[in-house]
Amino acid sequence: MIVARTIADARAALAERRGGRIGLVPTMGALHGGHEALLGAARRSCDTVVMSLFVNPAQFGDPADLNGYPRDEARDLRLAEDAGADVVFAPTAAELYPPGYQTWVDVAELAAVLEGEHRPGHFRAVATVCLKLFSIVRPDIVFFGQKDAQQVEVLRRMISDLHLELELAVVPTVRDDDGLALSSRNARLSADERARALALPRALATRDPDTARAILAAAGLEVEYVAVAPFSPPTLAAAVRVGATRLIDNVPIEEEP
Ligand code: AMP
Repeated sequence: MIVARTIADARAALAERRGGRIGLVPTMGALHGGHEALLGAARRSCDTVVMSLFVNPAQFGDPADLNGYPRDEARDLRLAEDAGADVVFAPTAAELYPPGYQTWVDVAELAAVLEGEHRPGHFRAVATVCLKLFSIVRPDIVFFGQKDAQQVEVLRRMISDLHLELELAVVPTVRDDDGLALSSRNARLSADERARALALPRALATRDPDTARAILAAAGLEVEYVAVAPFSPPTLAAAVRVGATRLIDNVPIEEEP
């Protein structure tokens, strides 16, 4: 497995692989079973699997969230290799945002609602860094998790609006046995917080926003939003705070036949 730290090295590593199908799995590291599912899907359908490993400072509104984000590159590289990655692109922030940087991609409407309303600037930063990664890696297909349903919608819109020549594959949310969606942020939950966080998947499983709200309130979780999002398919999405940790989750709602 090649680890490329610069854009030039990533392009050089991919130069002789352009004949085959290239898949890209963007991540922020702290890899878990969700990331492994994305890498597995890429491995099964691509000749070359590229994983990016970059904690994008621009998409964190809260400096404490950025500074406290779990990082263990050596472990991530081992897991990426075991999951079949051929190339890991792990740039520094200065490599992607050199002095004078000033270009941003704004998916205007979709980025302003739900998550976007509570995390201003978040999706602008996500769309921008993804477009950069797409431009550097030039993948045939990119893999994203249903766990971040609005991110998928924003990127699908960007790919369509900017006529990008790539496929977007969505991988179902991977959950622990108790139902909690895997997330790098789960590591921050105490045992008591984790027990209370289980109300989130339980609430969403009802597929009804009012019932979901009642379950979250009864569990004492601070609700940022619970809403049926107009995605395809329509999706019951929620964000809650459990102590100092913010968790999001969603379930697609079956469309009427
Ligand atoms: P992150 O490292 O949190 O930015 O996530 C990288 C990718 O993994 C994104 O496409 C996420 O949607 C996806 N992902 C994160 N958690 C899960 C999960 N539990 N199941 C499936 N995909 C996930």
